[in-house]
Amino acid sequence: MSSPRSRAFRGAPLVAATLAWGAMACAPDPDVAPESRAATATFCADVPRWQYSDLDRVEVGNDWFQAYRVAPRVYAIHEPFQFQEVISYLILGDDGALLFDTGMGIGSIRAVVAELTDLPVTVLNSHTHMDHVGGNAEFERVLAMDTQFTRVRALGRPNAEVRGEVHESALCRPLPAGVTEDSYHTPAFEIDAFVGDGDTIDLGARTLEIVAVPGHTPDAIALLDRGAGFLWTGDSFYEGPIWLFAPETDLEAYRTSMTRLADLAPELTTLFTAHNTPVAQPSRLLELADALDAMFEGIAVGNPIPGGVEFVFEGFSILLRRDQL
Ligand SMILES: [Zn+2]
Repeated sequence: MSSPRSRAFRGAPLVAATLAWGAMACAPDPDVAPESRAATATFCADVPRWQYSDLDRVEVGNDWFQAYRVAPRVYAIHEPFQFQEVISYLILGDDGALLFDTGMGIGSIRAVVAELTDLPVTVLNSHTHMDHVGGNAEFERVLAMDTQFTRVRALGRPNAEVRGEVHESALCRPLPAGVTEDSYHTPAFEIDAFVGDGDTIDLGARTLEIVAVPGHTPDAIALLDRGAGFLWTGDSFYEGPIWLFAPETDLEAYRTSMTRLADLAPELTTLFTAHNTPVAQPSRLLELADALDAMFEGIAVGNPIPGGVEFVFEGFSILLRRDQL
């Protein structure tokens, strides 16, 4: 792993019971219950990660979140105290703002966004897993991909399915006032309009292009600012263990999509990713494509971990079920 920190796995306690990923990626220890791993100092000792110390922090009133100016008129809105370490992005133009993901829905991301901009805000999600749509219901204008998966996820998730996300073992600090383990859920949200591959969003002096990258989920997208050379990758790539074991993941489609992103790499200056740390080099996309080739061709060898297999590469890894390759 490239990180000097001991924590390699971005989470453990909440994955579906059918796939008990409990292991730290670099030091699998199947005898330790996931809950106790997450509660150990390796999870909480160093959040936010050391990479944030180089970034331009912007103080916001709600200390559940931390905001960073990661490029001119681009803010990363991080939730470092919950094991997902998810990152949403507020992207400003002259006339409007796009909020790319809304996080866990544990704190009010709308309040944070209101501190950062007066512009009208449109929400678009990198995909509709619960750690990226938790604040959608706080906004009036939500764009979405037109997939059945998206429509189902827009119905929200009940407390019983997501309460583990706010169990004390998943947290590094107390929940914000008004949120409890018994009340937490993912609210349903209204979709204002559907978007698709190649559609553009004109924010005024900044145009964002939607790149459909089905694989991690059917509705996964990347967001491209060709003018700046920025690509927001969602969960398709980040520097950590990339989860590709969910039932809705299509590994073949993911490989095709990542080949497409790798082809964009020469045009890019920066990747903005959705977990752990916000900024990555575009060359990572080439490394990811090569990694997938090595996996599919049987050259890369996975390490067995509880319930699955982890393929470890420099700076990232890929987690699969045993039956996926
Ligand atoms: Zn995620």
